[in-house]
Amino acid sequence: MNPRIWLSTPHLSGNELKYIQDAFQKNWVTSIGENIDGFEEDIQHQLNINCHIVALNSATAALHLALIECGVGHGDEVICQSMTFSASANPIAYQGATPVFVDSEPSTWNICPQALEEAIQDRISKGKTPKAIVAVYLYGMPFKVDEVQAIAQKYNIPLIEDAAEALGSTYKGKACGTFGRFGVLSFNGNKIITTSGGGALVCQTQEDKDKAVFLSTQARDNAPHYQHSHIGYNYRMSNISAGIGRGQMEVLKDRVEARRKMHHFYLNLFQDIDGVEVFHEPNEDYYSNHWLSAITIDSAIAGKTREDLRLAFLDDNIESRPLWKPMHLQPVFANSPYYGGKVSETLFENGLCLPSGSNLTDEDRQRIANKVREVFGV
Ligand SMILES: *Cc1c(COP(=O)(O)O)cnc(C)c1O
Repeated sequence: MNPRIWLSTPHLSGNELKYIQDAFQKNWVTSIGENIDGFEEDIQHQLNINCHIVALNSATAALHLALIECGVGHGDEVICQSMTFSASANPIAYQGATPVFVDSEPSTWNICPQALEEAIQDRISKGKTPKAIVAVYLYGMPFKVDEVQAIAQKYNIPLIEDAAEALGSTYKGKACGTFGRFGVLSFNGNKIITTSGGGALVCQTQEDKDKAVFLSTQARDNAPHYQHSHIGYNYRMSNISAGIGRGQMEVLKDRVEARRKMHHFYLNLFQDIDGVEVFHEPNEDYYSNHWLSAITIDSAIAGKTREDLRLAFLDDNIESRPLWKPMHLQPVFANSPYYGGKVSETLFENGLCLPSGSNLTDEDRQRIANKVREVFGV
């Protein structure tokens, strides 16, 4: 059997160890230290705006804190893009709130501005103004930022950007994760860079950052003894993980380039195969890190389904995976309201994520190309 080709695996630079060794030498191995400060600065530089970063132990934790700071509580409603990973929606439930799911639109696969506005108006007419909007940058692709921001402002609802997959992506030259009241980044093992597990909250004010740090470190009041007037969380990143992150930030630019090269590889590979479309930016305003490359297959034209391709890949030990199954189709969210049509459902039926890692080799690409040509008979 040929070795496994994965969708996306960690790709270390080697420099991570120098930061970890430094932490060991100074005995800063918990959730305080130079690596945390340094990593937060690195992220801030990367995003290139006057934002304030909080390093946390996951993007899920970052989303949870963002919702808390937006005042989301029991019985509230929060709008959430339906087509996404469950971690975008779960923290809404942690707060005892109800997610209201909204369909995608076909050019970015992300939240549809029309369906979003329809959802807001309908929820308001039923007596509840949504407390926040969670919009996602699927596979690194920017959503329609101008339109979504305009709607959020019109109804005065805070926007939370789930940019877990989008570090290195920009919209009109500005970093994804910096448009809303909060942005969320992930450094999980399968993301574009990793801290072995971690995330960050992007805040617009020092005050919001201070509050997130306070909540993420058990909400201790300022007193010599342990004094608490809020429920706290243990969500801070460790100084060891942040050391991995600093080593990874040194190579982020290379990693984005390599992922984008994989995207171009697939554009070339599929250009003469009718009925297969490679997910791409709608125009120059959108710059995706192409965390995962993905395709949709119109089986009526291509003569093959996405399952035909997925199973053929599997025969040669190549991993591929259907797109995110929309949240409004998930059993756990069966009681949540949904607004929109069939865009995300159709994408889920016809879409496939392909091996996209920055560490894939020419040999890997050859095996992928051979399989594709075999399946489509070209
Ligand atoms: C990975 C991911 C998350 C969760 O990130 P963690 O750091 O694993 O908690 C949230 N949203 C999206 C869209 C993701 O892809």
